[in-house]
Amino acid sequence: MAQQNPKNSVNGMSGNTPSKSNMIRSGLFTLILICLAAMLIINWTNKTPAKVEVPLSDVITRANDPNGDIAKITVIGSTVDITLKGKDQPTETSRKDASGTLYEQGLINHCEKLEGDELKKCNETYPTIEYKEDVNTWGIVLDVALTVLPIIAVVIFFSWMMKQATAANSQSLSFGKSKARMYGPDKKKVTFKDVAGNEAAKQDLTEIVDFLKSPKKYEKLGAKIPRGVLLAGDPGTGKTLMARAVAGEADVPFFSISGSEFAEMFVGVGASRVRDLFSKAKKNAPSIIFIDEIDAVAHKRDARGGAGREDEQTLNQILVEMDGFDNDSGVIVMAATNRVDMLDKALLRPGRFDRHVNVTLPERKDRLEILKVHFKGKPVEADVDLEALAKKTAGSSGADLANIANEAAITAAREGHKAIANSDVVEAFERVAIGPERKSKVMNEKERKITAYHEAGHAIVGHVLPDSDPVHKVTIIPRGQTGGVTWFLPPEDRSYKNIYELKDILARAMGGRIAEKLIFGTDAITTGASSDLKNVAELAKSMIVEEGMGDNTRNLVFPGEDAGYYTITTGKPYSEKTAEIIDAEIKKLSDEAAARAETVLKANKKVLDKLADELLKHETLEEVELKPILKDAKLPLAAKLYK
Ligand code: ADP
Ligand code: MG
Ligand code: ZN
Repeated sequence: MAQQNPKNSVNGMSGNTPSKSNMIRSGLFTLILICLAAMLIINWTNKTPAKVEVPLSDVITRANDPNGDIAKITVIGSTVDITLKGKDQPTETSRKDASGTLYEQGLINHCEKLEGDELKKCNETYPTIEYKEDVNTWGIVLDVALTVLPIIAVVIFFSWMMKQATAANSQSLSFGKSKARMYGPDKKKVTFKDVAGNEAAKQDLTEIVDFLKSPKKYEKLGAKIPRGVLLAGDPGTGKTLMARAVAGEADVPFFSISGSEFAEMFVGVGASRVRDLFSKAKKNAPSIIFIDEIDAVAHKRDARGGAGREDEQTLNQILVEMDGFDNDSGVIVMAATNRVDMLDKALLRPGRFDRHVNVTLPERKDRLEILKVHFKGKPVEADVDLEALAKKTAGSSGADLANIANEAAITAAREGHKAIANSDVVEAFERVAIGPERKSKVMNEKERKITAYHEAGHAIVGHVLPDSDPVHKVTIIPRGQTGGVTWFLPPEDRSYKNIYELKDILARAMGGRIAEKLIFGTDAITTGASSDLKNVAELAKSMIVEEGMGDNTRNLVFPGEDAGYYTITTGKPYSEKTAEIIDAEIKKLSDEAAARAETVLKANKKVLDKLADELLKHETLEEVELKPILKDAKLPLAAKLYK
């Protein structure tokens, strides 16, 4: 844990954007609060001093009196405001019937029809009468506020929603801007040293590094500089890491974006991000643009039956930008994918991603190197055996191994160890491979016994058959979804397996259920073997359909839907009759496997009992403990495939 996972720091780069949008949001709220406060204050200051309420009849009497004290009557709706002579604000108020006029109620407008001096004189004697529209300025403000505020609220709410929706990956307010992360030279650098193994890929990429370092050298000789480099390989093999290492080695800025981020964008945004990304990279040349998981936008245009138009626009924009590069732009575009076969062919044409670098699953010595990288900086006990771990982890990717190293540290911390012990490493490996032990799940005695015989069956069949791998460990402690586990150790990494090895794998997978059947009878068939049977079905099918290993279909393969053509009746590129032959061949393989397992276990009944017994006693048996028990097991002639 002392070593930080570089992945985290990649994500950490854009971590400050959400708080920015938060600030803007809270800013808006503050603005609204200020507006409301201002309106309230205006309202208060605007309020006239309290008026005395007087009856209307009284007002009318005083208004009709030439010596009356009223200077002005202002009628607003049903409110009658009275301003006394010598005052400039109304001090009394009254109410009139909303429908009737003051005239109807007895107020005579004495100055009506008068003009000039006469009117002036009259107005000094009798009150002027003013009719105002029933408008209250404060009412207008309130009205406007009531109409506008909800709209503002809705707008804010929606923009907030949109931000939430895109927050997962694009926390940016500027939709069209690429939020490609840039690693300047001062960022913690990744170099080829951080990428263990994969020597061939590093070799290929050294040339790219050299070009980025001294482009002049190549230009002088008129060499065409590669524009696009495609890193291809299984997930977790270190493609992303490798791309960053190239940038680190060359000491140039690195602009990275992931294809999966484009998938979440609104129409048109993907393409504009691409444009932005390329223009940034050109400004900072020499530099690297890295498009991770490019298959997410660049899958074959026909492969998904009308691929999204957005993806297509994004892809087209990438192609346009790459075609528009000058030879001396100094920008190299790298991309990574685990599915080269899925990529649109247009991407792979000369001038685009024409350099391919394969990043492969690590071999044993590379696995050891990767483990060393990830255990470096962690406190480790002397008994930790990384060689053994490297041996056990055939088929694991660099990411898997990094994960084991991290799990080992976590396990050690949980166990209260000062340093990582080998037991922590073993536990971590098993956790990562099949899931955590479920010590708490109590099996009843019968279940434990069935499990013990089941696992013993796998172990014995696997041990006895000549082309199977050695048994490494057997346990009846439940883990993940399984009741127990029998581990076989692949002795060496091999690219090919022969038919005998595959048939032995089928037989040992059958060993579990067959052992149950031999001990508990045919009616004791349990569900404990379902994953074994699934594995058998899958392996047998691929042996027939993909590998041409059927007895009657030797060297014939049967592609599925992906063959590109199919018969109408079967929906597959072969006939009903062929389908039957395939099914029969698959059944034959699994029957043969069951028969061989049965032959072996019947011939080794004593060993089976002994092993099951030991398992019930100890729950887990390691290689050294298994050896003395298994040494008595023998291979019956009938189970041999070749003499
Ligand atoms: P990919 O992009 O191929 O899926 P990544 O580059 O994301 O794989 O690898 C994930 C993690 O696995 C890396 O961050 C690193 O910790 C580890 N890893 C993978 N390959 C290697 C390697 N060859 N050497 C060291 N670490 C590796
Ligand atoms: Mg990756
Ligand atoms: Zn099993």
